[in-house]
Amino acid sequence: MCRWCGRPVASAPIGRPRAYCRRSCRQRAYESRRRGIELGLGDEELVIARHERDDALDRLAEVHGLWADAVRDAQDGLAESTVLSRLLDGIDRVIGTNG
Ligand SMILES: [Zn+2]
Repeated sequence: MCRWCGRPVASAPIGRPRAYCRRSCRQRAYESRRRGIELGLGDEELVIARHERDDALDRLAEVHGLWADAVRDAQDGLAESTVLSRLLDGIDRVIGTNG
């Protein structure tokens, strides 16, 4: 999982496992660490752009919605395999495993 955005990280063919899914995430993490040092923040404190926070909250809300849909589909008697397939497809879209 990317240490910056939380998206899945493709496994490295050789050597140390990758910490970031893309160069922009590595760069943002670096800038964030630098800014944290400037502001005297601790390791557990983080300053992020509002749009990044909003994006994370939007994705979380989408996952909540997918979960609610799956529960309703199961209660409606839809086949478990169909419920699971829809849930996984939705989560895949939200977390952007293809991006
Ligand atoms: Zn990332």
